[in-house]
Amino acid sequence: MQKNAFGYNNRIEKVTMRANFPIVNKHIESLLNVQEKDSAYSTLKDMLVKFPARLEAVDARMAAVEKRYDSAFEKLSSLEAKRADMRLSRRAIEEKITKYKIQLAEIKKNDDYIAVNAEIERLSGEVSKMEEAELEVMFSIDSLKASLASVRADCDAEIAELKRQADELKIEGNRIESECAAARRELDAAFALAPAPAVELYKKIRGMGRKLPIVVQVKADALCGGCHLKVSSEQLSKLSNSDFPVLCEHCGRILWS
Ligand SMILES: [Zn+2]
Repeated sequence: MQKNAFGYNNRIEKVTMRANFPIVNKHIESLLNVQEKDSAYSTLKDMLVKFPARLEAVDARMAAVEKRYDSAFEKLSSLEAKRADMRLSRRAIEEKITKYKIQLAEIKKNDDYIAVNAEIERLSGEVSKMEEAELEVMFSIDSLKASLASVRADCDAEIAELKRQADELKIEGNRIESECAAARRELDAAFALAPAPAVELYKKIRGMGRKLPIVVQVKADALCGGCHLKVSSEQLSKLSNSDFPVLCEHCGRILWS
């Protein structure tokens, strides 16, 4: 059995349904045909309208994966910058120590010698602490560099998968687009086959934003097949006279029985 894009065989079901009930007149018959094509076209059009959002969602996921890598990379960059700053500060103190050591050779007074020597020792202690702190940062940099490689590999794998999904989606998009164009042509053909006043009425009701179905059969107990409210006896008698159009007084849909 040939199925349409939604895995649903409108034609077969509609034909079966119609076979069970005599068609009251050619207006209704042609409008049921229009409605069937309209339904197929509307579904495809709706899918087409929603399609860019599906592609954007995949793009957004790709951007999020890249952002995850970028934030790991930024963390590494900031640690490297921090380490460079630490080294500069340490070197400035080491230069001071070198200057003080040169001064020591020229100092005559013992007290001054002791004071400068103490300052050299204090600064040397500071330098050792700074070296330790630098080492810790270097270890962090090394481990971050190692993990960054695996983050990159994970991100590359995820992006490759998302690109594959995006490619599949684009193929699906092209298919929906061509099916939608074909459905539009079928709808136009159905409009062309229907009597002009019936088409005008159908388009008018559709244009009011009424959702499908707008051509509905009167069900058991004289209930409108659209709004399920009771159709008046006046409208029912018009239907039995094969008048066209007969509208539901409650919802404005085109009735047939
Ligand atoms: Zn109704």
